[in-house]
Amino acid sequence: MSNPKKRILITGGAGFLGSHLCDRLVAQGHDVLCVDNYFTGRRDNVAGLLGQKNFEALRHDITWPLYVEVDEIYNLACPASPVHYQFDPVQTTKTSVIGAINVLGLAKRVKAKVFQASTSEVYGDPTVHPQTEDYRGNVNPIGPRACYDEGKRCAETLFFDYWRQHKTRIKVVRIFNTYGPRMHPQDGRVVSNFIVQALKGEDITVYGDGSQTRAFCYVDDLVEGFIRMMATGDDVTGPVNLGNPMEIPVRELAERVIRLVGAKSKLVFRPLPVDDPLQRCPDITMAKDLLKWEPTVALEDGLVKTIGYFEGLLRERGEI
Ligand code: NAD
Ligand code: UDP
Repeated sequence: MSNPKKRILITGGAGFLGSHLCDRLVAQGHDVLCVDNYFTGRRDNVAGLLGQKNFEALRHDITWPLYVEVDEIYNLACPASPVHYQFDPVQTTKTSVIGAINVLGLAKRVKAKVFQASTSEVYGDPTVHPQTEDYRGNVNPIGPRACYDEGKRCAETLFFDYWRQHKTRIKVVRIFNTYGPRMHPQDGRVVSNFIVQALKGEDITVYGDGSQTRAFCYVDDLVEGFIRMMATGDDVTGPVNLGNPMEIPVRELAERVIRLVGAKSKLVFRPLPVDDPLQRCPDITMAKDLLKWEPTVALEDGLVKTIGYFEGLLRERGEI
């Protein structure tokens, strides 16, 4: 193993992204502590790791302080899908803001490096396209997405204040739409919704006219970006965009999913949610320069793997 063994805390470790990160870091031989309150995460996501000597799972809500000795912290705890983060918006803001204070306090005390899973939502409904890290965003502070967007913006503020004030070693990445196995089948995100609907032969719910765009990154690519970011020198703080710059209208995504599943589903059009960004696509020049990182998995290949995952899950549950 090239890396020395580290003690690594992953908050939100039983979620979609967190569980893939746990897999990678456990496989590298690190001691991994997964902390999660299981709001949107599932124990099944990390069940395969529970027998491993270098993996531990703890039920804990990060709005409460945690005292553990670790070398690195990945802060991923926060519901990520609009349906879930709007379910209890006050708790979403608390998780982002108080959670950030708690992980930063811990990082300061034990002198750990701390990584923040921020989001493209800090750019709101962007007026600059594609989004570069110096774009300051167009966020509605009082809309239904604000609990998430403003919570994540405030978390970034806290990270940079701890860095300026306490010299805490921070790593902030802004994640753009990511998909793959272990997404929650009911989380309402577009990729999981479309695949589950197609597999069940149901209508595909396109919000608005489907001309709004997103750019989708496969989970393995993203996790590679996380690990490279954490490995950078102390002078690298971010924020760094991580995502796949292959932009596609939502309607076209629906058509691709139908084709790949071989489904007979029809498109049905539903109202566009409030403050739904019209376009989103990362400029990843900085990630390419700093991390020598760029996505490698093509959308079709990633979708085929994700469809395979949901097919297995739905069959197991007797839903198809
Ligand atoms: P997810 O909902 O699958 O994972 C979030 C995890 O955090 C879940 O396991 C959940 O139970 C846990 N959690 C929530 N509140 C908590 C709390 N108070 N204390 C402890 N655990 C808590 O979502 P994900 O897609 O894996 O996202 C992980 C992180 O990445 C989030 O911070 C999210 O904002 C960020 N992100 C994800 C995407 C994406 O496309 N997946 C895009 C941008 C940002
Ligand atoms: N969307 C859709 N149908 C769905 C779910 C989502 O058309 O069943 C749209 C949604 O309005 C948005 C895009 O797909 O324009 C991505 O939505 P998602 O919730 O995955 O993430 P967002 O990028 O909005 O945070």
